[in-house]
Amino acid sequence: MTAPLAQPAADLSQLIFRSRVVQILAVETAVLYAFLALFVDLHPFWVRLVLGFLATSAAVVALAVRGRVIPSHLPGRILIVSAMVCVSFVGYAISNSGIPVIIAFSILSLTMAATVLDTYRVGIVISAVGYVLALSVIVLRSSNALSAVLVFLGLAVTSSFLLIRQRQFLEQARDAALDLAVTDSLTGLLNRRGMEIQVPLLDSVSRRTGQELACILLDLDHFKAINDKFGHAVGDVVLQTTSRTIVTAMREADVAVRTGGEEFAVFCLVSGKADMVMLAERLRECIAEQTSEPRVTASIGAAIGSGANEVAISELSARADKALYAAKQGGRNTIRAA
Ligand code: GH3
Ligand code: MG
Ligand code: MG
Repeated sequence: MTAPLAQPAADLSQLIFRSRVVQILAVETAVLYAFLALFVDLHPFWVRLVLGFLATSAAVVALAVRGRVIPSHLPGRILIVSAMVCVSFVGYAISNSGIPVIIAFSILSLTMAATVLDTYRVGIVISAVGYVLALSVIVLRSSNALSAVLVFLGLAVTSSFLLIRQRQFLEQARDAALDLAVTDSLTGLLNRRGMEIQVPLLDSVSRRTGQELACILLDLDHFKAINDKFGHAVGDVVLQTTSRTIVTAMREADVAVRTGGEEFAVFCLVSGKADMVMLAERLRECIAEQTSEPRVTASIGAAIGSGANEVAISELSARADKALYAAKQGGRNTIRAA
C-alpha cells in the first residue's frame, strides 16, 4: 500500500534535483566564461567573443530553468554538448598546450554529463582521471605553467562544486522522499507509517518522564453525508480544515496522525485519565466550533497504554477504537474513554 505512494515522491525529488543541477551548471558556466572573456588575455580576439556569447547563453539557460521542474535532461544536454565543444577550443586557446588540455576539458565536460545523468560514481572516477591529466599538463608543460594552473583550477573548482552540491541535493531528495513516505498527502499529518516511527519515540519519552501515553481516536460524524451532499472535493477541504484544527488544539509535543479516510489519532503524554479526557474534550469542542461550512462533528474514543512498538500501538489503538464505537453508539459528537 505504501510503496506506490513512495514512488512518485522519489521521482518528483529526482526531477527537482535535476533541474537544480542544470541551473548550477548554467550559473557556473556563465561565471567561468564571463571571467575568462573579460579578464584573461586571450588570442585571437574571436575566442573572447565566443566566450562572451557562451556566458550569455548559459545565463539565459540559468534563468529559464529557475524554479522549474524539468521533466527531461534536454537543457542540460544542450549545455553540456556546447560546453564540451567550446571549452576544448578555449583550453587550446588559453594554454596552447594541445591535446592533453583538450582531453582534460572534455573530461571535465563528461564529468558534468555524468553528474546530470545521475551516475554519481562514474562522475567521480571520470573527474579523477581529469585531475591526473590536468596535473600532467602542469608537470610536462612547465613553460606554460600559468595556463596549466588555470586549467587545473577550473577542473578542481567546478567539479568539486558539482560533486558537493550533488551530494547535498541527493540528501535533500532522500529527506524529501522520506518525508513524503511518512506524510499523508491531503492533510500533511503523519500517515500510519509515520505513526509507527513517531509513537515509539513518544512512548520512550513517557517512560523517561513518568507520564502516560494516550491514544485519542477521532472519527468524523456522518462524513459520508457531507461527501454525498457537497461532493468529494468539499469533503477533502473539510478533512484539511479539521486536520489544522486538530493541530491547533493539541499540545506541541503531541503526534497527530490521519489513520484512515475521515479518522484521525492524537497520541499524547498525559498525567492520567482525567488529563486525557480534558484534551479529548478540547479536540471535540474545537472541531464542533469550526465556523467553516459545512459544519462537522467528531466522535472520540481514548485509551491509555503502551506505544513501544507496532504490536503495542495496534493494541492501544484497538482499545481506543472500542471506546470510539461506544461514543458513536452514545449519539456521536461525544467522548468515551477506556
Ligand atoms: P459515522 O458517523 O458512523 O462515522 O458515519 P460516516 O459517514 O462518517 O462513516 P462512513 O465510514 O460510513 O463513511 C466515511 C466516508 O469517508 C466514506 C468515504 O467516502 C469518505 N472518505 C474516506 N476518505 C476520504 C477522502 O480522502 N476524501 C473524502 N472527501 N472522503 C473520504
Ligand atoms: Mg470512519
Ligand atoms: Mg465517520
